[in-house]
Amino acid sequence: MSARTHPDPAFRAADSFYAATAHPWAGAPALAGDTTCEVAVIGGGFAGLWCARRLAAQGKQVLLLEGGEIGRAASGRNGGFVSVGFAAGLDEIERKLGRDDARALFRLSDAGRQTVRDFCRETPDLGIAPVDGRLKVLRHADDGALKARVETLNAELGQDMVYWPRDKVRDHLKTDTYHEAMEDRQGFHVHPLNLARALAADCVARGVTVHEHSPVTALDRDDTGWKITTPGGTVRASQVVLAGNVAAGGEGASVWPALSRAIVPVATYVVTTERMGAKLHDAIRWSGSVSDTRRAGDYYRIVDGDRLLWGGRITTRVSEPTDLAETMRADIERIYPQLAPVKIAHVWTGLMGYCRHKMPILGELAPGLWACTAFGGHGLNTTATGGEAVADAIVGTDDRVKLFAPYRALWGGGPVGRIATQLEYWRLQALDWLEERRAA
Ligand SMILES: Cc1cc2nc3c(=O)[nH]c(=O)nc-3n(C[C@H](O)[C@H](O)[C@H](O)COP(=O)(O)OP(=O)(O)OC[C@H]3O[C@@H](n4cnc5c(N)ncnc54)[C@H](O)[C@@H]3O)c2cc1C
Repeated sequence: MSARTHPDPAFRAADSFYAATAHPWAGAPALAGDTTCEVAVIGGGFAGLWCARRLAAQGKQVLLLEGGEIGRAASGRNGGFVSVGFAAGLDEIERKLGRDDARALFRLSDAGRQTVRDFCRETPDLGIAPVDGRLKVLRHADDGALKARVETLNAELGQDMVYWPRDKVRDHLKTDTYHEAMEDRQGFHVHPLNLARALAADCVARGVTVHEHSPVTALDRDDTGWKITTPGGTVRASQVVLAGNVAAGGEGASVWPALSRAIVPVATYVVTTERMGAKLHDAIRWSGSVSDTRRAGDYYRIVDGDRLLWGGRITTRVSEPTDLAETMRADIERIYPQLAPVKIAHVWTGLMGYCRHKMPILGELAPGLWACTAFGGHGLNTTATGGEAVADAIVGTDDRVKLFAPYRALWGGGPVGRIATQLEYWRLQALDWLEERRAA
């Protein structure tokens, strides 16, 4: 198997472990000719799929346009961790919105996680393969702060977290790197590409018309509503949902420039190893997911019996580094030297879409034009939260989407914004390093 990937991370998922192990999906035809619908959803990632599914469940006539294949972008190539919260931390949200609204948002993110879990339960045969448990590990001792956090999350926010002292962590994860940990018993991990495909199949079963290979090249409004143009045809719709993440955003893309400009593409990397047999289970005695608490930390889990799926690093450079497999191999061996020599089987890149405030952009941008995007690095639960909230707002059954109103599409700063984001990442990395040195 090749350990190189296509140079354009946004437009091919074919080299990922997920693509190699994906459940079959019938595919959907490209749009050919001119048509109409009530709601058009642009983007066949989780955000678009959850939204389309919910709209169809409430009787709307929905058409979904995906530029490539369903789940080809972030949704089909991520870590697969489903956990509570947003890309922005609860403390950050609380500082901006106050305690009540921040907690209301947190609960919505929890409901999103439950929506994903329920869907996995309803569709057990489509290879989504949920596995329970998530560990958040500290690379430094923190004098009781983690323990206090666990207590708050359980007592005040209905979570089922368990504090792990250092000895317990080291019984399960055979490395000197980690100190304490927080076990999230409601967290789980999934095969994300299979989840996307299962959602698409469910959308079709509910009557959504899905078109793959139908990139939207223009979006215009006239007296009769919205007109969407693709190379093969046009769609007229009274409502449109923009769920294109960064493939539709970033510099140059202009389906809706004010939104595109707000989203900074941030690349992150994932590998899977060749099979490692018993030595992997000796090193990692835990079937759930693991991530450390650094600002751009490592995240990993065992897949396919005895392979390690490992993600990490972030950069605003969207082209793939040439030595990526080697860099990721070294990252794994630094934490688990006993696994050396690690052999990489698959390596791929994914793009996360971040707004400056690190929260999703959800809501009506112009009459009949809705945003459901910018989920950043925390989208497995929040795309369900956001997609369904936007759908309910369109149908008019619920207005919880208004809670997200303070998080508007702020300009990302163009190329300067990218540089600023990269500098900020380096600054945070340096802080993590200092924190660890101090603890050591
Ligand atoms: C490597 C990686 C690891 C991650 N790990 C995790 C994790 O473990 N847990 C977690 O919660 N989150 C994780 N995330 C974040 C999560 O994957 C995303 O937040 C989420 O998938 C975003 O979904 P989306 O539908 O908004 O975007 P996408 O999945 O990017 O989908 C957008 C879709 O829109 C389509 N599109 C764009 N423009 C157009 C157009 N003009 N016309 C038609 N179609 C268009 C694209 O082709 C694409 O398929 C990770 C992300 C990455 C990249």
